[in-house]
Amino acid sequence: MTHQQTAQQAGHDDGTRAEELSRRFAEVYGHAPDGVWRAPGRVNLIGEHTDYNDGFVLPFAIDRAALVAVRLRRPDGAGHDGDAAAAGHDVVDLASTWAPDDSGLTRARFRIADLVPGAVSGWGAYPAGVVHVLAGLDGVEVPGFELLLDSTVPVGAGLSSSHAVEVATIVALDDLLGLDLDRPAMARLTQQAENDFVGAPTGIMDQSASLMGRTGAALFLDCRTLESDLVPLPVAQHGLTVLVVDTGVAHSHADGGYGARRASCERGAAALGAASLRDVPDGADLTGLDEETARRVRHVLGENRRVLETVERLRAGDVRGIGELLVASHVSLRDDYEVSCPELDLAVDTALAAGAVGARMTGGGFGGSAIALVPAGHTEQVRTAVAEAFANAGHRAPEVFVVVPGEGAGRVR
Ligand code: ADP
Ligand code: MG
Repeated sequence: MTHQQTAQQAGHDDGTRAEELSRRFAEVYGHAPDGVWRAPGRVNLIGEHTDYNDGFVLPFAIDRAALVAVRLRRPDGAGHDGDAAAAGHDVVDLASTWAPDDSGLTRARFRIADLVPGAVSGWGAYPAGVVHVLAGLDGVEVPGFELLLDSTVPVGAGLSSSHAVEVATIVALDDLLGLDLDRPAMARLTQQAENDFVGAPTGIMDQSASLMGRTGAALFLDCRTLESDLVPLPVAQHGLTVLVVDTGVAHSHADGGYGARRASCERGAAALGAASLRDVPDGADLTGLDEETARRVRHVLGENRRVLETVERLRAGDVRGIGELLVASHVSLRDDYEVSCPELDLAVDTALAAGAVGARMTGGGFGGSAIALVPAGHTEQVRTAVAEAFANAGHRAPEVFVVVPGEGAGRVR
């Protein structure tokens, strides 16, 4: 897998990585890029399975990011003859340093004129989806370009490596084409790219965190209104670190489980006479629902409340105080929503027993990653305990690493 590779790269700062990427770009394409842009992955601190219920989420951008070096085929913007395709100027060349079998660059190539959903498979679908939605905007003409991607966001760990690719692509093209899109607009466009072009029914949280996150802060996002607000998350000043435990597992029922949970929520809302669970007051009488639906609804109502309480505590400067809310979130996801798995439960229980002040699964569940809020002095202890517990249980060795609430997407050079 690529985790080894990304762990090594994570030590480099983005400026150095951008310089290396520019050099590599010149090797691959024979000339320098127009620039380098970055977009981080994200961790969802709390607010799980609330996004598609019009609820609240609290993700933060992390210090692992996708970098893209890009060069437009018409860097001077000249020659608007409306026939870029005929002139061969609408060819997009993509290359990534990530390869599933570590075999070097993974490349893709397409013409913008040929772009329809399904036309590009594999990772190229993410940048292609972004091109497709931008080209569909009034008055926007997207020329061909060359792109080289290098990302330190581990793939498939639930840290949104896919959104990092999309967001890096859209900030680069927005900049190069002078589109001047605002961040919420870019979030909606990348969501559209993912829903309509890639074909994944995902929400708006991940792109928003990557686009609007700031160093030392989490992004409080209302998934109904799309209003967002930064909330201080000064973990280091409070002597804390956030550890990610990437279990490396992806249980096969993840897709079906996700769809079933969404359906339960819709059923629950309808039975309670609400358009969405956002409109059901916390503490509503759930006795009319079947037992399973009631538990699903209870999770969503409780999780929204926990997000609001987390925001309140962080605004009051009580970073340690959010630990118990993280634990309550995990218990609810495990018992009421039933989207955890043995590996995630083991990661959470072990981290707590080894000194974490809070821990929970993060992301959709059925595998992926857990996070733990750990006193800085206990980081190694937690790391070792988790590794040992996984070995004793016969699970594959997890990747355990520190993440820092970092800056949202932008130009690097
Ligand atoms: P995640 O939780 O990491 O977003 P997904 O399955 O949603 O997991 O997305 C992973 C996919 O994103 C990969 O299979 C690949 O298509 C794309 N991707 C992510 N990072 C890279 C990269 N560095 N190079 C090429 N493709 C990438
Ligand atoms: Mg993804």
